[in-house]
Amino acid sequence: MKYLVLLLVIVAVLWLARSRPRVARPDRAAKSDRAAPQAMIECTHCGVHLPRAEAVAGLQGHYCSDAHRLAHGDSR
Ligand SMILES: [Zn+2]
Repeated sequence: MKYLVLLLVIVAVLWLARSRPRVARPDRAAKSDRAAPQAMIECTHCGVHLPRAEAVAGLQGHYCSDAHRLAHGDSR
């Protein structure tokens, strides 16, 4: 009986040691995603905010789409 309790303690310790790193890894990945915010800009025509990478550049500013660039009279 004494050895059975000892065996259960060893199995429990090994199980905890194996399960903890697996839980921690997705946390670290989520934090690194949040650490890189994207620069947001405002559409010169309608005022909607969008990531700079998705914006259409014009002579008078940035736009959410080519249609809004043309509607604002910006010919690039
Ligand atoms: Zn717009």
